[in-house]
Amino acid sequence: MKKAEISFDSIPGSAVSETTLKICLKCAFDVITKQLKLTPRTAYSELKKHVPEESDFSGAATSRPHFLAGKETDHCPFCNGAKRWFADFHARRIDAHPSFEKDRKKLWAALKKKPERFTIWSPERTKMQIFSEWLERLNRSIDFEGDRWLLEVAISHIKRSSPSSDWDTALAGGVRRVQLSREAGEDWRYDNGWLYVSPGLYGDALMVQHLISRSHLHGGRTFEGRLTLHELMRRLRRVGYFEARGIEASEPLEAFEQAIVMIVDSGPSAVYYAVDRKDYLDKLKSVYEKKRDK
Ligand SMILES: [Zn+2]
Repeated sequence: MKKAEISFDSIPGSAVSETTLKICLKCAFDVITKQLKLTPRTAYSELKKHVPEESDFSGAATSRPHFLAGKETDHCPFCNGAKRWFADFHARRIDAHPSFEKDRKKLWAALKKKPERFTIWSPERTKMQIFSEWLERLNRSIDFEGDRWLLEVAISHIKRSSPSSDWDTALAGGVRRVQLSREAGEDWRYDNGWLYVSPGLYGDALMVQHLISRSHLHGGRTFEGRLTLHELMRRLRRVGYFEARGIEASEPLEAFEQAIVMIVDSGPSAVYYAVDRKDYLDKLKSVYEKKRDK
């Protein structure tokens, strides 16, 4: 009987970020067999235990024999080995949220039953670190040309603030506009391409847009145009943001900092990684068998 594949579908997509890290098996074997003078057999049993570090996946310190590559990469950047030597480690990072913690735990229990294939870990992070890492990933993924990114950033924040697997269905028609709505009641409502959001959510979106664009040329851009910090704070007051979020600060900078703290505090508080080693183990085995049979 074929066993069911483990599915990550129970976790909302907005809480998951995926990275594929490549490893060159030619380099991996060479390092062990040549430098450490071990037999291929010993090298194989050592390599079977191998798991890259988080810093390899994040790109912070990706080191030989690992590399991050696009589809067009067809030679190893270290030894120039051909594509057939490549294998993939597939990492999923989950930024945890109480709304799906039950599903996350269930999934983790399933992963723990396959320790050979899946390596799981949970690095220590503060909420502020999780938030800045999210901003960084968002920053890397968007194109600041044009205005489309404003919408993308706003929607990413809105999805992140209430993670749900239903977003894709709810927004299936696409979002053309995020519109401030003062109607009491729900935080958001979608109607025919328009996403109506509460003053709190709208203000959050402006904050995140401002934060993410300020390190760029012509920074400080938001749905409300390009704003200095003071202008942004004035706009947020007018929108009713401070009232909605219970922020009572007289100084603009103080209000800005309080707003960031509130966005951060309402966000995820833990990070979980699951690294799928299936492709790696399969290719490692076949490379080893060819070496052995030579
Ligand atoms: Zn190589």
